[in-house]
Amino acid sequence: MGLKGALGKFFRKYFFNPKWRCLLCGREVFEGENFCEKCYAKLPFNDGAICEHCGRKVIAFEPYCTTCKNVIISLDLCRSVFSYEKPISALIQKFKYGNGRYLADYFSECVANLYLKNYLNADGLLYVPMFEKDERKRGYNQSKLLAEKVSLKVNVPLIDCLKKIKETKRQATLSRLERLKNLDGAFRVTDKKSVKDKTLVLIDDVTTTGATAEVIASRLKKAGAKIVYLLTVASIPPIDKY
Ligand SMILES: [Zn+2]
Ligand SMILES: [Zn+2]
Repeated sequence: MGLKGALGKFFRKYFFNPKWRCLLCGREVFEGENFCEKCYAKLPFNDGAICEHCGRKVIAFEPYCTTCKNVIISLDLCRSVFSYEKPISALIQKFKYGNGRYLADYFSECVANLYLKNYLNADGLLYVPMFEKDERKRGYNQSKLLAEKVSLKVNVPLIDCLKKIKETKRQATLSRLERLKNLDGAFRVTDKKSVKDKTLVLIDDVTTTGATAEVIASRLKKAGAKIVYLLTVASIPPIDKY
């Protein structure tokens, strides 16, 4: 990298204000806007046919898609702002693995709107905890960042009552059944009183098969929670699309 490249990198790092730039292409945008018109038109909003239960994009409205039929039972309802497709998938990758914490501002705004749009009336918001060592390695927990910001926007308190007590394999390569087995005993409710008889909303970045959220919801229900909803930035459509 020449001096010019190095200087450019330095300026981008320290003087680049992501608030005035399109989050995807970097083009200048009006104050308060997150995307330029061109990129906004490409966003995969999850506002078409969805599985009424897990909220993932399917070909036709169904009460239950093939993934959550008979399996997602502790989660009462799940909804996501986007379908996990380009270009939003790239932004989420950046948020998760590319130190893109600033994206929490935009994503939390979307999730807060989703909360309001679904008329959810929760007593508390929760996030998916990370294993301590993993969180230290990444430097932040993206689910917690989101939940904290959503909590302020919708004025519902954050209940910090979940702990991840087991290191688990990365889920990406595992089947649904393997995921559930992998997650067995991974989470603990540290303060049962804080969730008893409560309506709760779990906040996360992506729903893949819903296994993690389902395992957490089942712990919460065992601890006495009344209703558990899941809101995510994006969800991956079922493989067979039904
Ligand atoms: Zn753009
Ligand atoms: Zn479903």
